[in-house]
Amino acid sequence: MPELPEVEVVRRGLGRWVSGRTVAAAEVLHPRAVRRHTGGPADFAGRLAGRTMAAPERRGKYMWIPLDSGDALLAHLGMSGQLLVGEPDREAERHLRVRVTFTGHAAPPEPPVPSEPARPPGPPGPSGPSGEGGGDGFDLRFVDQRTFGHLLIADLVPGVAGTPVPEPVAHIAADPLEDAFDDEAFYRAVRRRRTGVKRALLDQSLISGVGNIYADEALWRAALHWARPTETLTRAEVTRVLAGVREVMLAALAVGGTSFDSLYVNVNGESGYFDRSLDAYGRRDEPCRRCGTPIRRDVFMNRSSYSCPKCQPRPRRARY
Ligand SMILES: [Zn+2]
Repeated sequence: MPELPEVEVVRRGLGRWVSGRTVAAAEVLHPRAVRRHTGGPADFAGRLAGRTMAAPERRGKYMWIPLDSGDALLAHLGMSGQLLVGEPDREAERHLRVRVTFTGHAAPPEPPVPSEPARPPGPPGPSGPSGEGGGDGFDLRFVDQRTFGHLLIADLVPGVAGTPVPEPVAHIAADPLEDAFDDEAFYRAVRRRRTGVKRALLDQSLISGVGNIYADEALWRAALHWARPTETLTRAEVTRVLAGVREVMLAALAVGGTSFDSLYVNVNGESGYFDRSLDAYGRRDEPCRRCGTPIRRDVFMNRSSYSCPKCQPRPRRARY
């Protein structure tokens, strides 16, 4: 499932393509993809046509593109959603749900000035072999096999941190990679919540963008049991948890970052990070990388929690 780092990779990648572009038309090929848009597919398409897009923004797993109408195109990728850019005349993807075309030639953007050592060459740009400024342009596609993800057009309203956000995001807390995230306010709120620390990390009204995997990884790094009552957490422990969350997110972002220059900006939940860098999640009975004790798996909210019995001892009083 795409988590915050994968969505951030998409946001960064898309910005170069869509910022300043004007929509020619939007086509909804499957109404389920816009089920949260109250006006229905025709209204969705009508409110996108002719609008100019600004740079994409993100909070947690929500990404949105502000429009010059004062609204925003909001995307949630769900379990399997992808946003792809490519030649408009390429074959339709099997699970293509929404297609957005742009006015004019909508030539592909110039590649960004490399800020890092040279990377291996990526696939050719959307102009393909014909070159000459990309007369064929590109389009933007929402592809989603299971269609748990969705798109909608929403009003921009003041968010919890004061900056404008789409209405469905208004109740969601800032995520720990945003400047707007307030560590001290999180510490005070989490102490008041009287729940288990993992439940608190998954609570979008306290902190957004932390899924099951990142919560387990952050708690392993912080050496805290997932059922630790939040009212007993010290400021230093909360600082350790937040540092752990940021470390795992930034590590995943670094892996996903290699796709920035590629032809297709996409996310499929298959970040290479999950194959090689996990310390706790999915490692049942494998040795803890700190102490060698076999990692344990507990059932948690119909899912799993992975932790080290020695590094993360169960608290005498636990909150599940
Ligand atoms: Zn251990």
